[in-house]
Amino acid sequence: MEEKPKKKAAKKEAKGCNDVNCPIHGSLSTRGAVLEGDVASDKMDKTVVVQSDYKIRLNKYERYRSSKSRIPAHNPPCIDAKVGDRVRIRECRKLSRTVSFVVTEKLD
Ligand SMILES: [Zn+2]
Repeated sequence: MEEKPKKKAAKKEAKGCNDVNCPIHGSLSTRGAVLEGDVASDKMDKTVVVQSDYKIRLNKYERYRSSKSRIPAHNPPCIDAKVGDRVRIRECRKLSRTVSFVVTEKLD
């Protein structure tokens, strides 16, 4: 009587993502704002700073002043955004004192 060797867990997790705060593989849900920006810093652990530059019109001087917004966002290991990447971030529950956004995809 022959016995076939059982296959071990055929289901493989995508890139080994076991982050509970991943919007795709974890249990983190998003709601509210959806923003785009460029990654300005990836020095923190699983967190990036997403910066978007915009211009404000000054009516009195009929000119524009450039301004920027920097938002710390959670960076799940399966996305792993680096400095210079353009990303989309979505608002989620507060993950730490400063982080309440999560990176959901890289944009080309
Ligand atoms: Zn993931």
